[in-house]
Amino acid sequence: MKRIVCKFGGSSVADAGQFQKIKAIVEGDAQRKIVVVSAPGKRNPKETKLTDLLYSTYDLASKGLDFSTPWNLICNRYIEISKDLGLASKIGDDLKALEDKLKNHPESVSTDFLVSRGEYLSARLMAEYLGAEFVDAFPIISFDDKYRISQKSYEDIAKALNNENKLYVLPGFYGSNLRGEVKTFSRGGSDITGAILANAINAEKYENWTDVSGMLMADPRIVENPLPIEYVSYREIRELAYSGASVLHDESIAPCRAKKIPINIRNTNRPQDPGTIIGPTPENTKHAITGVAGRKGFSMIYIEKSMMNKEVGFGRRVLAVLESEGLSYELCPSAIDSMSIVVDSKALDAVQDIVLEDITQQMRPDRIKIFPGISLIATVGHGMTNKIGVAAKLFTALAEDNVNVRIIDQGSSQINIITGVDEGDTEKAIKAIYKAFVS
Ligand code: ASP
Repeated sequence: MKRIVCKFGGSSVADAGQFQKIKAIVEGDAQRKIVVVSAPGKRNPKETKLTDLLYSTYDLASKGLDFSTPWNLICNRYIEISKDLGLASKIGDDLKALEDKLKNHPESVSTDFLVSRGEYLSARLMAEYLGAEFVDAFPIISFDDKYRISQKSYEDIAKALNNENKLYVLPGFYGSNLRGEVKTFSRGGSDITGAILANAINAEKYENWTDVSGMLMADPRIVENPLPIEYVSYREIRELAYSGASVLHDESIAPCRAKKIPINIRNTNRPQDPGTIIGPTPENTKHAITGVAGRKGFSMIYIEKSMMNKEVGFGRRVLAVLESEGLSYELCPSAIDSMSIVVDSKALDAVQDIVLEDITQQMRPDRIKIFPGISLIATVGHGMTNKIGVAAKLFTALAEDNVNVRIIDQGSSQINIITGVDEGDTEKAIKAIYKAFVS
């Protein structure tokens, strides 16, 4: 029997009531054999996530300051969950040992180690509550010298989780580095742990349980009641996530994509909802577009020079200037005598003068100008491939709503059309595109 890896995020393990929901979910399907958990998240918007409390604790303890305020909140959360679930766990002893270490030998506790305890303790409690085997991520998930997951990790995971009839619980978010120390992923990284486990055991499915019933075709703060996305491909999600529509850590796609394992985003508070499936490119699609998303904060470097198209190496040399300043670019549409380079405004700010000066000196353009305040709107969908009239429909919708299009870029795969608009037009553009293709 192929197994399902289920990852439960911070809000899904926020209190004892959430633990109970998880138990019902796990017991509801015999294939759900591997459970990954985050550290407890917020129970209400005013609360602080446990991971953030651990960072605060580290900050204070490493400076020899009183860390009791965040630390007591951490201890109370775990003890409350344990008590409310009626567990006999010795979590109080674990917390006490950690506190003593922080007080007496703070230099022996690294940030990553302390912060990883959020997931570690959460998984210990979950394993006890579910009557499952606890497996620590530390010895089986290891990073190589470039902080990529080592090939050996996949073998170690498969070995550690080899009993198909057993229920395992693992902490997300961390592994070990080459020096044998705890190393955490970037924030939200428990998603990556789940994806790596799914790959290593050739899972049937990777269920990512959170507090929303999957993805929506547009941001609900912009479009009223957007339709849910039932299915989105691995390629589409990259485009949509880049533009701000994300419910999942972007590094968790690749391990599943490599083995064509579907990822199902589900809602712990509404397990009856099917959620969104992220999987291979579909044969048929219901709508012409799968989603539309927008991201603000870009600037356009516009360069004009007569006979540019005849100047061999022009583009390469312009991009080399950006490279030498450590500036990556997002888009680079060009015409016969002009090219535009879209970059992140914040990144550009720091090096703007030198970039302008270098390009002017080296390329002798007729005109060079920076246009700040650009928003990129991604309209994404396999349904657009080889369909005539899609671009016409999109630009008509924008024109009718008075949105001035500054940049147009259609990927050659034809699954996305990116339009650059003034930041102030972002919401209007998203609404217009959604209305044209969906309603
Ligand atoms: N607890 C970690 C964070 O808050 C990792 C995770 O939840 O995925 O970023």
